[in-house]
Amino acid sequence: MKEMRTPFFFSTAIFGEYMANLFQSSYYLGINSLHSFKSYSEEEYSNFEKKFNFISNKTLYYDRDYIHDFVELVKQLYETNDICIMNKPTAVCECGRAEMTQSELNRFSKDNVGMQLIENREGELTCRYCEKKLILDNHESLYLSFKEIELSQNTEIYPSYLDSDFNHFRKSLLNSQMRISRVRNTGVSAVINNRLFYLDIDFLWKTIPLLLCKQHVVVVASVKHMFSLFIINYLAQIIKRNKVYFIGLPFIETESVRKDVLHFLSDEKHRKALKLLVLLGVGWSQKNIRLQDSTCKYFMSSRLKNDELFEFLSNVSFDTNQWHEMCELITLHTQLQNVLQLKKKNPGNYKSTTMLNYRRNI
Ligand SMILES: [Zn+2]
Repeated sequence: MKEMRTPFFFSTAIFGEYMANLFQSSYYLGINSLHSFKSYSEEEYSNFEKKFNFISNKTLYYDRDYIHDFVELVKQLYETNDICIMNKPTAVCECGRAEMTQSELNRFSKDNVGMQLIENREGELTCRYCEKKLILDNHESLYLSFKEIELSQNTEIYPSYLDSDFNHFRKSLLNSQMRISRVRNTGVSAVINNRLFYLDIDFLWKTIPLLLCKQHVVVVASVKHMFSLFIINYLAQIIKRNKVYFIGLPFIETESVRKDVLHFLSDEKHRKALKLLVLLGVGWSQKNIRLQDSTCKYFMSSRLKNDELFEFLSNVSFDTNQWHEMCELITLHTQLQNVLQLKKKNPGNYKSTTMLNYRRNI
């Protein structure tokens, strides 16, 4: 396993922990460990646990534990015509890593989508991994159909400027289909209409927040995963059993931060400073936040003040009389403001879940 490139890999987990504390809800921290071409040893699974030891009161969950419920959901969506079987020309390489339908291929040539797996060698699309060219043939696959949905019914998103992303996806995907099965053996299969389909693991990952809880669920994820958030939202709308809130965390850019500062914040001994920096030092005015050295150093240096602040934050909840102190705090920090608005608007029982795209960091 490679080292995390930035300590801010943990920011969604940290923010999820804080929100679960505020909401006094169950906290599920998800790790996607399924992979078509490799599997983790039990030792590697216990390393996941160790990495997140500093996050309190959480339940780590793995996509592998939701295969049964996921397959049942896919079958249900097939029965309701939200998932259909289509036979389309699909280009597949020998090892199976690279596979694309004709329409995905068109997108590839136009926008260079899928460049990490496929390259154009003298006019032939070739898999970078097995170095064999892609063969185009007809394959039956499962597709999720995008129908007209009302976004506002069962969903809220914070910060609210992310609404426009949801609307963009809703309009651009309307009446189109997304392939949710693969020609290769992904290790997750379903028999539908007497035919065996290998299901896309990334699609499984997107359904888990809805499988975790049938009522209120708050999903915390990076804005880098807006498309995944949209799919979760779309599924929540069509299965009509979850009220879903989304918190899209800004992506924290660290190009302006000195290496020794990042090294300090990556050290397990300094998790408290990292937590405070994520909770209080990062603005939410835009999707990408360029962090400065000076902001990091503030949270690294004043140790005593940090301890007091951390103690205060750890003890805040909405059922205490600290509300006014909390309001003072939120006037300074838009991040906390968003959470408070959500809680004020919708009191009740919640489950919070954080989605970490772990596999891509390994
Ligand atoms: Zn290949």
